Order: sequence, then structure tokens, then C-alpha cells
Amino acid sequence: MSDDRPTPDVPDLDHTRYLRAALDLAREGQAAGSAPVGAVLVNHDGQIIARGRNRVGEAQTTQHVGDASVAHAEMDLYFQAGRLQDPHTLTLYTSLEPCLMCGGASALLGVGRIVWATDDPWGGSGRLIRWADHPALQDTRVMPTPDPDLEHEGATLFAPEAKRAFPEEGWALWRQRYPQETAVVDAQTSRAP
Ligand SMILES: [Zn+2]
Repeated sequence: MSDDRPTPDVPDLDHTRYLRAALDLAREGQAAGSAPVGAVLVNHDGQIIARGRNRVGEAQTTQHVGDASVAHAEMDLYFQAGRLQDPHTLTLYTSLEPCLMCGGASALLGVGRIVWATDDPWGGSGRLIRWADHPALQDTRVMPTPDPDLEHEGATLFAPEAKRAFPEEGWALWRQRYPQETAVVDAQTSRAP
């Protein structure tokens, strides 16, 4: 699913460094009782200008969207970032391929590039952003899974949540896409009382 359209104004960045930051936030979300998904927004100079993590299991505050199924890491991040300066120069890094809502929000805001650690074969919006001919989706590029080790780490982290949240067709797609990581979850689930 490489994106062969002209590259927008985003610089070469150390993807591994920022995906690690997103994965750290994902673990923070999990520890707080939400889903393990994290995201950072990086500017043209390589500075992280906003951080977000999933907060569906926590209370909403004046600083953070929460306590709703739309309290995804990317929405938390955009909520805090406010009005974006030169969005076409920004890169969004996420631990998991953004969903339709968050991918759509990123494209609507004109974010230049989205990079994620792990595919979401069920809910991910990369396919839509890559191939859709909707005019609002033309200026955002996608770069899936540039680091195989972090892809595995992200898949292992999110797989239990994938099985819990979408146990039927969604989990079947996850098993197909990440057989090794999902087999571990299936083995643990079958041992549970
Ligand atoms: Zn989302």
C-alpha cells in the first residue's frame, strides 16, 4: 500500500523514534484503563508538538476528550493541538493505523503524512486515504509500518483489545494479517476460566 503520489512538504524523519513515542503513549493509555493506542504530531523540524492517547475508559476533562467511544488517541491529540500551523508540513505518528474518524480528521485538517507502527486490517482507514478520490483526501500521504520490530510490538500490544472489541469478522482479519501475535491471544483466551 505504498503511496506513489507526489510527496507533500514533509521532511525525512526518524520514523522509529516517533513510533516509539507513540507506542509509549499507547502503554500509558492501557495502564490508565483505556485502549492501547498512542499518537504524536511532529513538525517540519522534527519537534513533537502534540501528544495523544486513547482515553475511552477515563473521564472527560477540560484538557482531554474522554469517556466516549470517540476518545481516540488522535482526537485527544488534535483536541490539545488546537489550530494547526502549516498542517501540510506535519507528520502524524500512531501506534495503530487510524480509524475512519481519525484518518478522516487528519485528512480534513490537511496533515501532510500519517505513519503508523501496526496495520488495523479491520478498522484502519489507510486504504481509504490512499485510494479515495474524495477531494479532501488528496493532500495526505500514508506510510504504513516502516519498522518491522515496532509493527510486531504494536500488534502484540493491541491484539487483545482487537479480540475484545471486534471478536467476529474483525478478529478474523487480524488473525489473517498478524497470525503470530493473534495466536498468543487465542491461546491465553482459551486458557481463561
Ligand atoms: Zn480513531
